[in-house]
Amino acid sequence: MSIPETLHNEMREWRHDIHAHPELGFQEKRTSDLVAAQLESFGIEVHRGIGRTGVVGVLRNGNSKRSLGLRADMDALPIQEANSFAHRSRHDGVMHACGHDGHTTMLLGAAKHLAHARSFDGTVHFIFQPAEEGIGGAKAMVEDGLFRRFPCDALFGMHNRPGMALGRFAVRSGPMMAGGAFFDIEVTGRGAHGARPESGIDSVLVAAHIATALQSIVSRNVRPVETAVLSVTQIHAGDAYNVIPQSARLSGTVRAFSTEVMEMIGRNIARIAEGVAAGFGATAKADFRPIFPPLINDAAEAEFAAGVCTELVGAANVRRDPPLIMASEDFSYMLAEVRGCYINIGNGDGEGACEVHNPSYDFNDAALPYGAAFFVRAVERKLAR
Ligand SMILES: [Zn+2]
Ligand SMILES: [Zn+2]
Repeated sequence: MSIPETLHNEMREWRHDIHAHPELGFQEKRTSDLVAAQLESFGIEVHRGIGRTGVVGVLRNGNSKRSLGLRADMDALPIQEANSFAHRSRHDGVMHACGHDGHTTMLLGAAKHLAHARSFDGTVHFIFQPAEEGIGGAKAMVEDGLFRRFPCDALFGMHNRPGMALGRFAVRSGPMMAGGAFFDIEVTGRGAHGARPESGIDSVLVAAHIATALQSIVSRNVRPVETAVLSVTQIHAGDAYNVIPQSARLSGTVRAFSTEVMEMIGRNIARIAEGVAAGFGATAKADFRPIFPPLINDAAEAEFAAGVCTELVGAANVRRDPPLIMASEDFSYMLAEVRGCYINIGNGDGEGACEVHNPSYDFNDAALPYGAAFFVRAVERKLAR
């Protein structure tokens, strides 16, 4: 199947409209209004307010009890857009720098096509998720009863990938993207005059030793064949040249592909922080918070997704088992509930190669028909008449 030129043109208009009016996570008021209004205009049943600003469209055809979930994310990022094209962000300091405008549009395009063609037997749930960028939109929808209210036999979603050629897909079986955690370590020493260190306990020195010692976790505690990363990304202490501060705080992030490795790293962060601090006569308290589980694709559904992609663009344009991605993605919460697969779609290696989260990024409109066609074909194959 291919997406007709008229629908491609319409999708481009929706995409530019969404891009021009970006909204941060859980604030997707205008975006969810637009999604709901479009779905309703296609004759699709709409449910709103799932996970605050989330939207679910339900399209039934025939008698089959089978059902499929298709998911797109809707939120933008707190980045000042550097582009000057006509559809640039109208909102200062907010932009669609991750292509969620494109993801939402591709799913809307598929919904419009399927509502008209009715080329399937069963129920399709179009899931428009808020707040993917680190603030828990997928979790909010799941906790709001997403899959209890809209049961799905399988679930699919996709993310654009800059640098991968247009018309190409990448599909990986098993773990695909890392689970993520954030941590904070509060170090308490004893404040003193900067010229009289002997009367204090230097929290800055303790924090520096903790930051160094934490680097032994990935190199010495994680099995070399496993993959993990620990980055200390913030150290805060002191406000004066001549004061040894009483306390210091370190913060950072951990990524890993299994819950066991993640938990082990969390325990070792606490042990090292407390132990190093004690060695200097200070104290440390670590707070470790897993944010996303690792994203794990079901082997059979990955095989299915690769088959759909192959049908659309040919085997030569489907990359099987691409490298693991250390970034996280909260679709993992949904895949922990319902088996399915997350795939990557090429955003272009010339135009479209600018990395996501960059102020010059833009979703490539030429990718829209490929993504919409994937969703349509997945429905027609999974819910074949
Ligand atoms: Zn992003
Ligand atoms: Zn994204």
